Amino acid sequence: MIRFLDLKKINEPYEIAFQEKLKVVLANGWYVLGNEVKEFETSFAKYCGTQYCIGTGNGFDALVLIFKGYIQLGKLQKGDEIIVPANTYIASILAILEADLIPILVEPKLETYNINPNLIVEKITSKTKGILVVHLYGQLAEMDAIYEIAQANDLLIIEDAAQAHGAIKNQESKIKNQKSSVAYSFYPSKNLGCLGDGGAVTTNDVELAQVIQSLRNYGSETKYYNDYIGVNSRLDELQAAFLNVKLPFLDADNEQRRTIAKRYLSEIKNDKIILPTVSLRGTKQSNHVFHLFVIRTQNRIDLQDYLHQNGIQTVIHYPVPPHQQKAFSTKASGWHNLTFPITERIHNEVLSLPISPVLTMDEVAFIIEVLNRY
Ligand SMILES: *Cc1c(COP(=O)(O)O)cnc(C)c1O
Repeated sequence: MIRFLDLKKINEPYEIAFQEKLKVVLANGWYVLGNEVKEFETSFAKYCGTQYCIGTGNGFDALVLIFKGYIQLGKLQKGDEIIVPANTYIASILAILEADLIPILVEPKLETYNINPNLIVEKITSKTKGILVVHLYGQLAEMDAIYEIAQANDLLIIEDAAQAHGAIKNQESKIKNQKSSVAYSFYPSKNLGCLGDGGAVTTNDVELAQVIQSLRNYGSETKYYNDYIGVNSRLDELQAAFLNVKLPFLDADNEQRRTIAKRYLSEIKNDKIILPTVSLRGTKQSNHVFHLFVIRTQNRIDLQDYLHQNGIQTVIHYPVPPHQQKAFSTKASGWHNLTFPITERIHNEVLSLPISPVLTMDEVAFIIEVLNRY
């Protein structure tokens, strides 16, 4: 059976280095916010080309802390509206709610699965204060258009890059210099994953960086003195140590994902399968990091069964769109009547093929052959 994602195989090459790190942390006797977290924050900021990186407990908290940080700085207020793609993993939307802000859902483009910039403007009201952009499946959203809208309407830009480690750093300098803040997750299955939960915020905004650094640690800079109403969401010292081991290999891993994606794109030839519209490196919206390779098909269950019978495991990302989840089914949610036809269609048709740095070229060739026979 070709596994959808073999996490054990992904982490196997690092086993000895991980054990060395465990020894180092044990010998230091400092288990929370120690040298490993500091080292990772410095390295990841450098890797992303940003001035600041603040480690957090997970990706969800990274998002929530960005919003709470802006609230502390007076740039957002409870009840403000934040534009967010209707087609995303639900965590993006829940983070907005967790910060007492109001998510306003916008349809994606069917071809890229990412938010359609043309549909953002009509959703902007006097209460709209920000756009939470999600780089879904590892492909950057259309940032040029989104920045233009944000600038014209004085909106903050927050990026959910939980699926896009390494995709942002090569953006044009125009975008890089903007004061956007970016949330990352290091959940084990992400392109850069630790052995548990982890997350981070990157930003060039010194004030935001300082507030988040404090908020993640009970709102405290100096022990037992609390400046803000904070939370406990620190990047774990051991997880940071593991991330320090893996970060130098992220670019090579992403390159391997691109190599596999290029083969899928050029060699899968079947009228029943719609390949994703992606931009490969060298093009304007470049640097897709293929966290997932997501195809569409009319009869998804049939294709998934067929692949399974041929020894290929696939996963659906995601089966139910956020606005149709049971959590939002009550009248009180205000969402029980919402419809987003493109989002719903995507959720009905998508299927994720295996893609990872440890998938072999023989396995890729076999998957392509089986798909072409379907
Ligand atoms: C994984 C993910 C998150 C949440 O990350 P956690 O570390 O699991 O909290 C948020 N947004 C997107 C798009 C994700 O894929």
